[in-house]
Amino acid sequence: METKIARRILLGFIEVHVLHHAAQAPFYGSWMMAELMEHGYQVGPSIMYPLLRSLEEQGLLHREDRLEDGKIRKYYEITSRGQEVLGDAKRQLAELTKEILTPRETNR
Ligand SMILES: [Zn+2]
Repeated sequence: METKIARRILLGFIEVHVLHHAAQAPFYGSWMMAELMEHGYQVGPSIMYPLLRSLEEQGLLHREDRLEDGKIRKYYEITSRGQEVLGDAKRQLAELTKEILTPRETNR
């Protein structure tokens, strides 16, 4: 999984996964890394935090700093723009899944 294209595809999947959870409930980075780990993705802080920052900068996630046990924890939740992007991604994913994962007699 270390060619450029494989890495780009993987990052896209991770971004959709992150937006999906941000639409369910606010989460923080280490929670999200543990969640991805359960799905078999090895995502460390050097990938997770820049990715969260990037989604925040693009206006797809909103960050809220909360004080918990004397530490600041950054919580992320989806914005309305993020909802739109997630909605589009879901439609595209459904279409692609139908196309490439549904057994057919022929491809033509
Ligand atoms: Zn998940």
